[in-house]
Amino acid sequence: MPELPEVESVRRQLGPRLQGRWISSVSAQPQLRFRALERAAGHRVLGLRRRGKYLLGELDGGLELVAHLGMTGSFRFRGEADGWRPDAYVRATFTLGDSSAAPGPHAGAGLGATVLDFRDVRRFGTLAVVPAGDYRGLVTLAALGPEPLSDDFDPVRFHAALARSRMAVKPWLLTQRPVAGVGNIYADEALWRARINPHARRVGRERSTALWTAIREVLSEAIEREGTTFRDYRMVNGESGRNADFLVAYGQAGRACRRCGTALRKVVLGGRGTTYCPWCQRR
Ligand SMILES: [Zn+2]
Repeated sequence: MPELPEVESVRRQLGPRLQGRWISSVSAQPQLRFRALERAAGHRVLGLRRRGKYLLGELDGGLELVAHLGMTGSFRFRGEADGWRPDAYVRATFTLGDSSAAPGPHAGAGLGATVLDFRDVRRFGTLAVVPAGDYRGLVTLAALGPEPLSDDFDPVRFHAALARSRMAVKPWLLTQRPVAGVGNIYADEALWRARINPHARRVGRERSTALWTAIREVLSEAIEREGTTFRDYRMVNGESGRNADFLVAYGQAGRACRRCGTALRKVVLGGRGTTYCPWCQRR
């Protein structure tokens, strides 16, 4: 499932290609997690930001296009050098007009038109057009914690957020409320790095600061490597991320811990597979 580094890698490729373009038409299959997509037609994309695992396209006219890749979502431009052609898993298609063309129903119909597909095998992806900043009905986005790589992510407030919860630390991270964008992969990686047991319910100041640092490090390093690809995650150009070879905890059950040599253990915690070192991360 794409997490912050994967979504950021998509944003870095998609943003420059969307900025300033008119969305001349939208077609979409009816999907549970699609909402009001047709409202994007006739609007210009002013910019593309990221919040946690969400992409937020600022449209003129006070609208916002909210996108979440879910488990298997990807954006691909049609007819590019990477050879992408639409298949049965394309759930939505945006036709983009020339940035210099006038808006309207015919913009982008001729030369300069670009076709952007949203492909999603498992159909957990979200696409919604909302009044800018109105995230009612987008529960996770509305309650999202601070951006981990911004100054909003503060070690003192992070410690307070961990102390407020009675949940085990890992499932609490996955709620996105103490910090945005951390999913199963980077939670396991950060907890291993900070030597914190994923079941821990009390995380003291020193250890929460170590976790704060570890979260920023593992996410920054993964962004540099354009994310982690196991099966489905692809960037807009169709390429995989390079971070999978650098994982030390997630997906490494049974292998020797790189710090102490103990075999890493996999358990199910909060319904999610969780891998940790029973020695370095003991309770
Ligand atoms: Zn260890």
